[in-house]
Amino acid sequence: MIETVLETQGLTKYYGSALAVDHMDLKIPRGCICGFIGRNGAGKTTAIKLMLGLLRPTAGSSRLLGCDSAALTPAIRQRIGYVAEGHRLFRWMSISGLEKFQRAFFPKQWDDKLFADMIEYFGLPKKQKIKHLSNGQRAQVSLALTLAPNPELLIMDDPTLGLDAAIRRQFLEGMIELIMRQGRTILFSSHILGDVERVSDRIVVIDKGVLRADCKLERFREAIKKVILGFEDSVPAEVDIDGLLHCRRSEKELELTLVGTDDEKIAEWANSAGAEKYTIVKMNLEDQFIEFTAPANRRKLFQWEEI
Ligand code: ATP
Repeated sequence: MIETVLETQGLTKYYGSALAVDHMDLKIPRGCICGFIGRNGAGKTTAIKLMLGLLRPTAGSSRLLGCDSAALTPAIRQRIGYVAEGHRLFRWMSISGLEKFQRAFFPKQWDDKLFADMIEYFGLPKKQKIKHLSNGQRAQVSLALTLAPNPELLIMDDPTLGLDAAIRRQFLEGMIELIMRQGRTILFSSHILGDVERVSDRIVVIDKGVLRADCKLERFREAIKKVILGFEDSVPAEVDIDGLLHCRRSEKELELTLVGTDDEKIAEWANSAGAEKYTIVKMNLEDQFIEFTAPANRRKLFQWEEI
């Protein structure tokens, strides 16, 4: 049986009367890299803080490594790494100073070699104070500090925000390095969907606080597609195909975005609608995400998915 390392049940958070996370039921299996995506204000940071027990839910619950988030024991906390949005580090400390400080919290599990290797890999000056580092360098220090205790579960909130493409690539390679060690799990939020596509094997999509997808990346990638149909005369007035997300019309063409509609069904529909020709167009993750979370569409998907 697949082990779940992170699970939420009906997780809900209101800030005053504003609903930020709405009855979220989520399951993350051990050993995956899971991209957590959603538009600005969708509720990612709130959900992450709830999962870590840093915020109290209005309703529902979550469990990390089998332990209720509201009552994470020090022993469980030591098995979890968290990179907060913005990489908040003590600005007056040097990298070496921070290393010593952080190591004291993880006396048994701190991996000196891993920390030293990462600092060298990123080319960081160990004696430099945090306040004299660039944003990217702070992100790298933050990742090294989080990885050195060998966390079993790593949760990162927009860890590559503001980093250039090359540094992001290094950062993501660092993540992959971690996951290659058996049994490690990563959940990370990001707005850079090319990165999510490159490194994730699962994705979670949240939209206005509502969980819209929780599935294997491959499943999401295969499920959302665009079909362009050409008609000799005019396009049909009604489009009644299953899984329709969006329909754009021109005089002789229909452009449909569909979810979960298999190619056979598309062929059948194209035939019955009298299309002269049709093409199924491959979309990248960013286009799929934009179509999937467009305001007109509030379809809930993929929660049936096996984990
Ligand atoms: P982004 O991608 O822009 O960082 P996000 O998906 O992480 O956004 P959250 O920061 O979780 O979104 O915010 C979700 C909603 O909750 C937003 O509408 C935000 O304005 C609101 N919110 C967040 N923190 C608070 C707070 N402390 N008090 C009141 N409202 C808040």
